[in-house]
Amino acid sequence: MEHNLATSADSADYLVDLSNIVREQSIGGPGLRSLRRLDLVVAALVTLTGDPGVRVYLIADASLLGGHREFTDQADVRKLRRWVADGLVEEVPDADDRVLEIAGMTRVPVITGDRYDAYRTEHTWIQGNTSQFLKPTPGPGGTVALVPLDMGVRTPAQISRREELAALKKQGLLGPNQTPLIEVLTRAWRCPERRCSLYDIHSGDRVLLPRMRRGAPTCQQHQIPLRDDGPRPATAQLKAVINGTVTRYTLAEDSVTPVGRYPDPGIALFSLLDQDAAARVSREHVVVSLQKGLVLVRDVSSYGSRMRTVDKRGRPGHWEQMTPQADRRFRPGDEVELAPGVILTRSGRIFPAELPDGWRTGAPQAPVPPGAAAPTMST
Ligand SMILES: [Zn+2]
Repeated sequence: MEHNLATSADSADYLVDLSNIVREQSIGGPGLRSLRRLDLVVAALVTLTGDPGVRVYLIADASLLGGHREFTDQADVRKLRRWVADGLVEEVPDADDRVLEIAGMTRVPVITGDRYDAYRTEHTWIQGNTSQFLKPTPGPGGTVALVPLDMGVRTPAQISRREELAALKKQGLLGPNQTPLIEVLTRAWRCPERRCSLYDIHSGDRVLLPRMRRGAPTCQQHQIPLRDDGPRPATAQLKAVINGTVTRYTLAEDSVTPVGRYPDPGIALFSLLDQDAAARVSREHVVVSLQKGLVLVRDVSSYGSRMRTVDKRGRPGHWEQMTPQADRRFRPGDEVELAPGVILTRSGRIFPAELPDGWRTGAPQAPVPPGAAAPTMST
C-alpha cells in the first residue's frame, strides 16, 4: 500500500481527506478510527482506475494523531507517525482548508465524505461540483465503492461568474491580475528563510504546494510570504495501460513526444505489446505535446486510433475515430486507444489553461484555442 502514497500533491492522482476517511464508520468494520478504511479506499481506486500503482496524497488534521487513543489498533498510530515523519502525510492544523486549497490549485479529485459547507464562500468552485469529490460507500463483501458526490449549490441563487470573481477578490484569493488560485501552480516559490526548502522545486521529491494567506503564497512553517522564483516548469502525467499493466511517463513543458511501437526518440511500447498488438501499433502512432499549458494528442499512425473523452461529470463518452494528423485536446481522464487493449490516458493535475468555463476569462471554448499549438499537417 505504501507505494501508493505520493510525496507531493503535484504528482498525485487523488487527494485523500485522511481524517474523514479514517473516521468513516460505514466502511471497514467497527471502531472509531481505523487505517483499514484507507486500505479499502486505495483498493477501490485500483479497481476504479485499473492502475495498481495509483497514487494518493494524504492530508490530515493534527488532531487525527492527537486523538490516538481512539484508534482500535495502536499499530495504526505508529504507522501514521512514521508516514508523517517520512512526508507521506501532510499534517496541518485545518485539513479541510488545506484539502480545498490543493484541490483548487490542482483540480485533482478528492476522496471524502465531507461537503465542506463552511468553505463555499472562499472556495466557490465547490458549488454545483459533481465530479471532483468521491465518497467511499460500503460495497459488496466488505469492499468499498467510490461514488461521485453531487456537491449541490448552497446559496439561494446560482452565483454568476462576475459575483463569483468579486467574492474571490474580496477573500483575497485573486492577485492584482485577477489570477485564480490555480495560477499559483504556474510559478515556482521559495521561502525567504535561507535554510527552508519546503517549497523549493529543485530540492528533490518532497515539495509542498504553498499555503494561501490573505491571497499571498505563504510559508507554512515560517509564516512569511514566499518569493516568486520564476515560472514553474509544467509537467503532465501520461499512463499507458496495456493488458492490465500500467506504465507512467512524465512529459515536460514544450515537449513533443511520439508514442508508438518503437519511435526514436519517444515513448517506445514494444516491450509491453503482445504479438497481435505489436502488428497494429505503428512505429510512431500518436504524438503527444505539452505546450502553453495544454496537452494535445495527434494520430500519425497507419491504422488509426480511437479516442473517448470524459464529460464535465467525469463520465467517459463514446469511442470516436481520431482524424489523422489533427491535434485534439487531451484532458485528464481522456483515453486514446492505439490498438485493442493498448490505451493511453492522462492523470494527475490539470493546468490553468484547462480550467472549466466558470474560471476562464470569457474566451470561447474551441478544440484548440488561439495561443495553443496550431494543428499541423506534417509529423
Ligand atoms: Zn519557510
